[in-house]
Amino acid sequence: MEEVGTGLLDRLDAMQRVAASAPGGPLLIVAGPGTGKTRTLTHRIAYLCAELNVFPEHCLAITFTRRAAEELRHRLDGLLGPVAEDVTVGTFHALGLTILRENADAAGLPADFRIADDGERAAARSEAGDDLASYTALLRKQDLVDLDELVTLPVELLRADRKLVEQYRDRWRWIFVDEYQDVDAMQYELLRLLSPADGNLCAIGDPDQAIYSFRGADVGYFLRFSEDFTDARLVRLNRNYRSSAPILAAAVQAIAPSSLVRGRRLDPARLDPEAPLVGRYPAASVAEEADFVVRTVDELVGGLSHRSLDSGRIDGRSTSLSFSDIAVLYRTDAQAAPVVDALSRANIPVQKRSHDRLRDRPGVAAIARELRHADGLAGSLAARVRLAGQVVAERFAVPTLDGTGTVRPEAVRSAVDLLTPLARRCGDDLEAFLSQLATGAEVDALDPRAEAVTLLTLHAAKGLEFPVVFLIGVEDGLLPLRWPGSTPDEDAVAEERRLFFVGLTRAQDRLYVSHAARRTRQGAERDCAPSPFLGAIDPGLFERFGETEPRRPKDRQLRLI
Ligand code: ATP
Ligand code: MG
Repeated sequence: MEEVGTGLLDRLDAMQRVAASAPGGPLLIVAGPGTGKTRTLTHRIAYLCAELNVFPEHCLAITFTRRAAEELRHRLDGLLGPVAEDVTVGTFHALGLTILRENADAAGLPADFRIADDGERAAARSEAGDDLASYTALLRKQDLVDLDELVTLPVELLRADRKLVEQYRDRWRWIFVDEYQDVDAMQYELLRLLSPADGNLCAIGDPDQAIYSFRGADVGYFLRFSEDFTDARLVRLNRNYRSSAPILAAAVQAIAPSSLVRGRRLDPARLDPEAPLVGRYPAASVAEEADFVVRTVDELVGGLSHRSLDSGRIDGRSTSLSFSDIAVLYRTDAQAAPVVDALSRANIPVQKRSHDRLRDRPGVAAIARELRHADGLAGSLAARVRLAGQVVAERFAVPTLDGTGTVRPEAVRSAVDLLTPLARRCGDDLEAFLSQLATGAEVDALDPRAEAVTLLTLHAAKGLEFPVVFLIGVEDGLLPLRWPGSTPDEDAVAEERRLFFVGLTRAQDRLYVSHAARRTRQGAERDCAPSPFLGAIDPGLFERFGETEPRRPKDRQLRLI
């Protein structure tokens, strides 16, 4: 446990300290990427508890993903010690679930209601047709709720019961919301009910990283915070601790044409004069782009001959980088396959995650059902997940997510690999694990310590950082994403630019952007131009690779001999 008391805020810079020690009342922290939002948030909670005698149980911190919630909880433990357990930390879904469990009766639900899995939703949908009310009734008959209802039902409950509102306002007197730029209408409504207009609501985020409008998020709530909440205080954090100066300069230039932050500033805290420029690799093809990633990963980590093939670990010459330091980011999931193949051929371990819901992934619903129904399974939760996976895979033909096909055993095995670290983190709590499967995203199952190169969609990369980042497929049509033949509107392009900004700002030390001259999209091979977003970046910030005769990646099997 860190020393609390006067030194508590010593590890913050001046503006972070202002934010962390601001008095009560509505507080909006507008903070760019890498400016230490999580650090500021945890220190604010710790400061309030340690210095201003706020009870930890009066604090509610809402994060965007379960991974972020775990990270926040972990850091709070370090600052506050065991009392950190009394702070409520979770996602909007987890918060809604808590409220519903505590008021199941009033919501007309049995105490042991469950969140419908995909099969159950699909069955109810096909029986109900277009009739949304009867869809809900069918779920209710089986004591099920839909995922979206985890927020809408608590909102309905609270709207109808002022006493309940007062009860929760009394319990959570201090509310903190990270990534506020991505709240949606229902989440906002829930916050408004839980927090009075002059309440102790601390919202933190960056409008320039608003990337979830396709799921209903609306950056407008962030932008009008001071209209919604009385006498809101505003603090800006502009000092970026994450990225080297060239990476940061490129990112700031990239967002400038559609920045939503007046006078957007990001000052580099890191001023290493030796910092490498941003690598730019114009590839002739997707295969060549994938080869570039493999070759560069290999060079950075120290070469295959120094690595054991069994474990993928570095077992020879000491190198400062490992696979876990490296991420490959892309706009669409389909872009991952050539890179996964190329890395795997080179015996480089990978872990791939998207922002899709876990329950939508083939095999997950079947494993969840098996775990729930098979009483005979023994051992740790992780072992039971593996066993359930075997049972499901051996059954060969498993009804899918919509009852129309089968799940392949490989899909079940890869689901088991994905879920095992998550099961470990849940200890033996089957219910907690199953609710994570129902509400979590694939990226929640990311193992940051895994000795593997991480592959992520740009959406899934939100909030994360890596020493080395490859941003691939930076092409017109992919970033901004556009279906061949269509013209996206201005708002859509602005959001794509923000996505590009999110991608660039994940990198700490080395950033590579690449684009292929030809790519297959929608079944046809097409010529591709580099993304117009690259045009906003000073060419002097780039080091261009591959201008000379491209080097062929060395044959790894031969090198081993
Ligand atoms: P994002 O918008 O990408 O979510 P963020 O603002 O949440 O970014 P953090 O992940 O909290 O940023 O912090 C970025 C990095 O900067 C972390 O590695 C963190 O430890 C470091 N950092 C933050 N504040 C300081 C500080 N005052 N001194 C040193 N390092 C800091
Ligand atoms: Mg963050």
